[in-house]
Formats: sequence, structure tokens, C-alpha cells
Amino acid sequence: MKVAVFGARGKVGSVMAAALADAGHDVVGIDLGDPVALEGCEAAVDFTQPDAVPGNVAACAAAGVPCIVGTTAFDRESVDREARQAGVPVFHAPNFSIGAALMMRFAAEGAKHMPKAEIIELHHDTKLDAPSGTAKATAELMGGNVPIHSVRLPGLVAHQEVILGGPGQTLSIRHDTTSREAFIPGVLLALEKVHSLPPGLSVGLDKLLQSG
Ligand code: NAP
Repeated sequence: MKVAVFGARGKVGSVMAAALADAGHDVVGIDLGDPVALEGCEAAVDFTQPDAVPGNVAACAAAGVPCIVGTTAFDRESVDREARQAGVPVFHAPNFSIGAALMMRFAAEGAKHMPKAEIIELHHDTKLDAPSGTAKATAELMGGNVPIHSVRLPGLVAHQEVILGGPGQTLSIRHDTTSREAFIPGVLLALEKVHSLPPGLSVGLDKLLQSG
């Protein structure tokens, strides 16, 4: 299908644009300053920055194009409102890697049985937001009130460890993203499913994995 990629020259967007083209999609790259040409697009993918997301989703909504948002820390409320009003589905996963979705699922399960937990998330030093969207989503799935520690260093990509503790034992659940290729299968899955989602913002890769 014809897919617009917002942020196609960025670190994730460039990997994604190439992977979507390899998977047979007709990719239209839209970067900062480019005309937002969505004619004929059946879906859009956004890996930009938080402030850019509402405008990009508004353009998609006006054109009736479902949008998959990978960018983290954007204003979810305004995006949901815009998408609902336009009757267009928007899908967001704070983390598009399948392993991270499973790590979050296992952490949520662990939190039902262990009394305390803390999250350590580690990312490259050019990441703009802290704590990461993945860490916040994990804490929420674990029932909230889980301390998050953020590390930003060169040499890292994206890593998270959830440590659960109880008397006499700890359980560590760790996920490491070693390259941005990790995000490709999740975005391809979202492209398959986004048209069947309800209008408005849907969040979380786990839901798409569970829908088979
Ligand atoms: P990046 O390298 O800075 O790339 C962002 C790109 O978007 C840049 O090329 C930037 O252009 C461009 N851009 C900015 N505003 C735009 C606009 N209005 N329209 C079109 N393009 C625009 O950042 P990144 O590392 O790829 O990360 C991008 C986002 O994805 C971040 O929010 C990050 O947290 C998130 N992320 C999510 C996942 C996930 O699985 N959900 C995984 C990794 C990263 P300029 O350079 O000219 O400003």
C-alpha cells in the first residue's frame, strides 16, 4: 500500500522507510519542511518528535488516512480528539518491538505476585524524553506507583529491566533493543491491523498481538 512516513530521514524513520519499501509498500517520505502530500496514501507512520505529532495526525485526519504513531511523549488527548472527530483510527505503541511488548506483559503478570518493583530504563543520550514512554506504560500496566530510573549514555540503544522483589528473592525481566530493526515487525503488524481499529487513538502493541 502507499504509506507516508513522517520523519523519514530520522534515526528510526530512515530504517522504517527502507523496511516498508522492502516489504513491498510504496513509501512517501515526509520530513520537516516537505509538503505534506498524502494524496493516495492508505496509511501513515510517524517517527518524529512530540510537538510534531498533533499537526501530522491532523493532516492525516483531514485526508482520512489512518496513522501509526511511534513518536513518544506526545499529547494523547488532543490526538485522540482530532482522530475521533475525523472518524479516523490512530494507533500508538510506546514500543514497537515484540520483545518489549512481551516484557511489559510479563512484568504486569509479575506485579500481581511480587510486592515491590522498580524499573531501570537505559537509552542513547540523544533521546529527548525521560522517563521513556515504554517505562511509563510498563509502570501503568503494573498498577502504577513503580519507581523509574532513567539512564542516558552514548553507546546504548533502548534497554529496560524490571526488577521485582519479595522476601528472599528478586525476579528480573530484561529487554534489550540492539538495533532499530527491532521496531520493524511491530510497525508492519500495525499497518495490517490499523484499518480495522475504531476511530480515535488506540494504544499498545500487546492488543494487536492478542488479536491474532
Ligand atoms: P530523530 O532521529 O531525531 O528523527 C526525527 C525525525 O523527524 C528528524 O529527521 C526530524 O527532522 C523529523 N521531523 C521533526 N519534525 C517533523 C515534522 N513536523 N514532520 C516531519 N518530520 C519531522 O529521532 P528518532 O530517534 O528517530 O526518534 C523519533 C521518535 O520515535 C522519538 O519520539 C522516539 O522516542 C520515538 N521512538 C519510538 C519507538 C517506538 O517503538 N515507539 C522506537 C524508537 C524511537 P529534523 O532532524 O530536521 O528536525
